[in-house]
Amino acid sequence: MRPKVAVYARISFDDESTGLGVQRQEEDARMLCGRLGWDVAGVYRDNNLSAFRKGVRRPSWEDLLIDLAAGAVQGIAAYDLDRIARQPRDLERLIEIYDEHPGLVFATVTGEIDLSKPDGLLMARIMVSFASKSSSDTGRRVSRAKLQIAQMGKVAGGGYRPYGFEKDRRTIVEAEAANLRDIAERALRGQSMRSIARQFDAQGIPTPAGREHWSVASLTRILTSPRIAGLRGYKGTLLLGDNGHPVKAVWPAIINMDTWTALKELLTNPDHTPKKRIDRAYLLSGFLYCRCGAKMSGAMRKGRPEYRCNGCGNTHRLAAPIDEFVTGKVLNHLEAILADDDLAPIDEDDDLDQRIAEAEASLAALINEWTAGRISDQVFFTAQNRKEAVVLSLRRERGNKKRRQTSQASVGVRERWEQATLSERRAILSEVLQGVRVIAKWPTQPRSFDPSLYRLTFRTD
Ligand SMILES: [Zn+2]
Repeated sequence: MRPKVAVYARISFDDESTGLGVQRQEEDARMLCGRLGWDVAGVYRDNNLSAFRKGVRRPSWEDLLIDLAAGAVQGIAAYDLDRIARQPRDLERLIEIYDEHPGLVFATVTGEIDLSKPDGLLMARIMVSFASKSSSDTGRRVSRAKLQIAQMGKVAGGGYRPYGFEKDRRTIVEAEAANLRDIAERALRGQSMRSIARQFDAQGIPTPAGREHWSVASLTRILTSPRIAGLRGYKGTLLLGDNGHPVKAVWPAIINMDTWTALKELLTNPDHTPKKRIDRAYLLSGFLYCRCGAKMSGAMRKGRPEYRCNGCGNTHRLAAPIDEFVTGKVLNHLEAILADDDLAPIDEDDDLDQRIAEAEASLAALINEWTAGRISDQVFFTAQNRKEAVVLSLRRERGNKKRRQTSQASVGVRERWEQATLSERRAILSEVLQGVRVIAKWPTQPRSFDPSLYRLTFRTD
């Protein structure tokens, strides 16, 4: 016996773009019924009503549920699941009726599910819960559109123009491009981002926003942005296409991909700072200021390390107790900063997860290239080590972050300090510490360490 079914059609707010007018939904559903050998008992239409918005009644939908439960119709044909239900509660009402009346049929033009089968029910539940999520967050739609634009390698975005490019975001500004190539090289040689930023400031090079002050963060962001390698980024990370390769942008590259990859590793993984940089033997050289205004540096005196004034030459102090005291203060300060960060909602985990996935994909792609014989062992081993290290360090970063989130802000900082080399420690210091004023207890040198003679000033930028 041919079942008599209801065709359900609904127009929703996004149909203009998809061209899925109620007319077309109805026609397609009728054709589907014809193919399946079902008779159309009636068409139930809801115009201009969103199945999503709570409190918006769908009169025809309500009629349909009543007729279905009463046996007046023996099933539903619709264009897709989206027409039927955007809210889990709608779907559950429908599923309840199908559970109670086992003979009912169900079909959609897009053919994604069959409510009369057990796995169809499960699929429907999953799909509706996704759909409900997506409509409850219009921002998600917007970002999906942005992602699509990104996947095509196209130009996107408002705000300030990216450094190195004109306002159209694709024409290179040669002078700025030259600056970028120059600092990329210097960064790779081991110059710190802070000193590069200061140099930019000193040369009066304006930021894209027209400001005169460059921050380490903004410079780092520029140098690690896929954009300058002619690649398309998305939310700050490299976007990979369906083939697993980076998406090429429509604009030209300022630096080549190898350089960019090396920069990215260097600047996003502190562990990969080139070790060839000479470790300064004294933790606080250059951070201590004598009462005469000059900086103090480390030197050996009578077989013991101490700090001595470079100016008047009169002030000198044993290094070890000062190092210990300042380290303690700095770590407390860092913990306080990080604890503050923890209070703010952290929403970057997705980003980190994505970066881990990308790093893993990139490693997998490399292994593929190697097993296919397209790259030499030597290239493979070097790159493989590097890529593995990236994955590891990202995972560690995620671990640290999770640990931080689970209330112990202190763990990460002290562990990292313990594991850091002297130059890494000095780098951490220069991130937070402006300087330490050494107050002289003139004319006698203090015999034992007196913390009140050291005044720390922390950075506020
Ligand atoms: Zn001095």
